[in-house]
Amino acid sequence: MSRDAEATRRIAENLADQLAGDGAHVDLVSDPRYGATLRARYTFNSDEAHKKQLLIVGHLDTVWPAGTLAARPFRISDGRAYGPGIFDMKSGVAIARFALRAIKEAGRATNRNVTMLMTCDEETGSHFSRELIEQEAEASHTALVLEPPIPGGTVKTARKGVGEFELIAHGRSSHAGNDPRAGVSAVTEMAHQILAVNALCDYERGTTLNVGVVRGGVLSNVVAAEVRASIDMRFTTVEEGARITEAIESLRPVLGGARLEVRGGINRPPLVRTAEIGTLFEHARRLASEIGYELREGAVGGGSDGNFIAALGVPVLDGLGVDGAGAHAEHEHIIISDIPRRAALLARLIETV
Ligand SMILES: [Zn+2]
Repeated sequence: MSRDAEATRRIAENLADQLAGDGAHVDLVSDPRYGATLRARYTFNSDEAHKKQLLIVGHLDTVWPAGTLAARPFRISDGRAYGPGIFDMKSGVAIARFALRAIKEAGRATNRNVTMLMTCDEETGSHFSRELIEQEAEASHTALVLEPPIPGGTVKTARKGVGEFELIAHGRSSHAGNDPRAGVSAVTEMAHQILAVNALCDYERGTTLNVGVVRGGVLSNVVAAEVRASIDMRFTTVEEGARITEAIESLRPVLGGARLEVRGGINRPPLVRTAEIGTLFEHARRLASEIGYELREGAVGGGSDGNFIAALGVPVLDGLGVDGAGAHAEHEHIIISDIPRRAALLARLIETV
C-alpha cells in the first residue's frame, strides 16, 4: 500500500533485481515516506543516444494494505486472474518487463532508447515522484502508461485533471443551552458552503466537485468552532481548472463572525487529447489490428502520472495494461486471454514509437 515505505521499497528492490537480470541499468530513488521509485534504462541500439527516449511509466504502490494478499490470495477462475492490485497495475508492470525482455532476447532493434519509471506513490498523488516523472518526461519523445484500460481494453487518450482542497470554516464556540447566541456555528457555515461548492459542478463541461469528508464539532451541546471539509475537483481543461480554483478561493462566509480558510489546489493537470496523442493512438490501433484485434480509445475522470507528462507537451498513451475490471475493489481481476495480445502490442509500440 502507498505510504507503507518498507513494503513498497521491497517491491522496488525485487523488480530492480529482475530488470537488472534482464540487462537494464537500474537505480532506485528512495524516500523515507513512500519507499523507492525505480528507474530502468534499456539500450537496444548503440546509435540512438542522440534521439529522445521512449518513457514507460507505471507504479508499484497499490491501495491495499500489506496482508491483503494473505486474506484474498491470487486465484484463477473462469479465465480471470484475481488478486489485490493485479489490474491496477501489477499486470501492466509485468507485461512491460516481458515485452522488453523479449525484444532483447530476440535481438530486435527499437527506434529509441527506453526508460522504464516505476513510481511508489501514484495512488496518493505522486507528491514524491512527480519531480522524477517530469525530469524523465523532459527527455522523452513519447510516454506509454501501464495503467489499466477502461474495462473492455479501451486505452485512455484523455483524463481529467484533479484538484484537492481543504475548506475550513471557523466559527465561535459557546454553550448550546446557556448561551447559544454568543456562538457562531462552523457546522451551519459549512452547510452553506457545501451547497455553494456543489453548485460549481458543471456536468456539460465535465467539471465535478465532491465534498467527500466533513469533520468538525465537539459535542451536541457545544456550538462548533471549527469544521473541515475535503473536496475533490475534476476538470477537462487547464482554463476550467483555473476558473474553479478561483471560485473556491473566492468563497465568502454566510454567517456574521464566521471565517473561511482554503488550502490545497490543483494536483494533476488534465491529460488533454492533442493531435499528437491522436496520431499515437492511430499508430497503436494499426499495430493492434496487425496482431488481430480492435483497439478503442476513451476518456476518463481519474488522473494518472500520464497527466504530468502530457502537461509538458509529451504525447501520452495511457491504459496499456491488461484488460480486466475492479480497480480498487474486491473483485479486482484481469482477463487472462488478453495478456499475450496486450504484451505483443506493447512490444510493437516499444519497437516502433
Ligand atoms: Zn494505477
